[in-house]
Formats: sequence, C-alpha cells, structure tokens
Amino acid sequence: LEDKLVHSERLASIGRLAAGVAHEIGNPITGIACLAQNLREEREADPELTEISGQILEQTKRVTRIVHSLMNFAHSGSHQQAEEPVCLAEIAQEAIGLLALNRRSVDVQFFNLCDPAHRAVGDPQRLAQVLINLLSNARDASPEGGAIRVRSEASEHTVDLLVEDEGSGIPKGVMDQLFEPFFTTKDPGKGTGLGLALVYSIVEEHYGQITIDSPIDLEQQRGTRIRVTLPRHIEAMPLAN
Ligand code: ADP
Repeated sequence: LEDKLVHSERLASIGRLAAGVAHEIGNPITGIACLAQNLREEREADPELTEISGQILEQTKRVTRIVHSLMNFAHSGSHQQAEEPVCLAEIAQEAIGLLALNRRSVDVQFFNLCDPAHRAVGDPQRLAQVLINLLSNARDASPEGGAIRVRSEASEHTVDLLVEDEGSGIPKGVMDQLFEPFFTTKDPGKGTGLGLALVYSIVEEHYGQITIDSPIDLEQQRGTRIRVTLPRHIEAMPLAN
C-alpha cells in the first residue's frame, strides 16, 4: 500500500510538472512551426531551404506530439469523472477508429465485448484512453499481420478487459518499470513513456487492477496479455411484489 501511495504521489507531482512544461513549450513550438512554414512558402524555389524547413516542421510535429501526451497525462485525474455503465464494444470501436488500426497491418479481433453483461462502471472517455494506449502498444510491438485480440470476461462483481498481442513480449528485467512515467524502450519521438503511467492512474481512479502476462508463448518468448479488471455494471433487479 505504501508503495502505491508513493507511486500516486509521484504521478501527481509529475503531472503538475508536465502541465507546466507542456504549457511553456507549446507556444514557442507553434511559433517555430509557423516560421518554418512561411520560410517554405516564400522560398519555394530553393530546394535546400525547402528541405531544411521541411525537417524543422517534422521535428516540431514530434515535439508537439510529446507536448500533447504530456498535457493528456497532466490532465488525468484533474477533471470530474463520469460513473456510468460503459459498453466495452463501443469504446473499443472508438479506440480502433482513432488509431486507424483497421487500416494498418495488424489484425484486430473482438470477442464478447458486445455482451450486455460485460459492461463496466466508469468514465467512457477515460476508459477509451486506456484502450487507446493498450492498443497502440500492442500495435507497436506486433509483427506485420500480427493478431491483436480484445475481449472481455465477466465474473460476479468485475469485468476484465483483455488486450492480447503476438508481439515482441516484455523482457523480465523491465517489468518493474513499465508504469513509471517516461519509461520507454521505443525510439525517441515514437514513445514518451507516459502511456502505461496514464493507464495506471485511470485504472486506479476506477478502483480497478492491471495484470500483465508476458511472454504468453514461453517457447517462442513472444506475446503480451494485459488484463484490466474493472467494477462490473449490475442491472438493478425489478422488485418482486
Ligand atoms: P511508450 O508506449 O511511450 O513507450 P508506455 O508507458 O505505453 O510508453 O510503455 C512503456 C514500455 O512498455 C514500452 O516502451 C514497451 O517497451 C513496453 N510495452 C508496453 N506494452 C507492450 C506490449 N504490448 N508488448 C511489448 N512491450 C510493451
């Protein structure tokens, strides 16, 4: 428990720092991007300048992406949370649409998600964010054509959301660091290391739990299964008379 409290405290203070930094960096970056854009338009005839201003724009986009995920992270927990029945199929569709996963080279499969008994209680937007982060990690780890399975399992009081991939798996040595803000093994610019930290805080807000199983396939040392356990929505029973 003490560990958990320390972790939450750290997340909160990193959140505040992140908000400040993101705010301070956002404006100058927009300025740099505008200048590069102008330069490119004014000196269209100069191929070298066009190339360089193109690179500046690319790099500013990269910084903007990082700033956005920092802001996202910082705003977690600071706003009113909804508490309503959440259809997991709906949030999965939303996440897939946002990530344009169905147009990429992974094969996303759903099981059980439409089952009305498999509804969670929580904030649909926050839970969609959980799925977006888990799915984008699964996608990044997946080989060409790899399958990603999203399914749910219900028990009496809880419903589990599972995201399973056939990707690289997670080495034992980094298991402890996965939820640390800024821990990433991805190329700079691709990963910010905030995805699972945000997942952790959202799941905690929902009184849920996360379990990671990796590698799933011990022989090939591949594949990851992430299980998010959430409170289940239970239909009120009509009173018998
Ligand atoms: P980011 O995606 O920006 O790196 P995350 O916090 O979402 O940040 O993830 C941290 C790290 O956890 C990733 O860099 C990766 O090494 C590992 N990871 C997360 N999900 C998976 C997965 N499904 N398969 C393999 N590695 C994963």
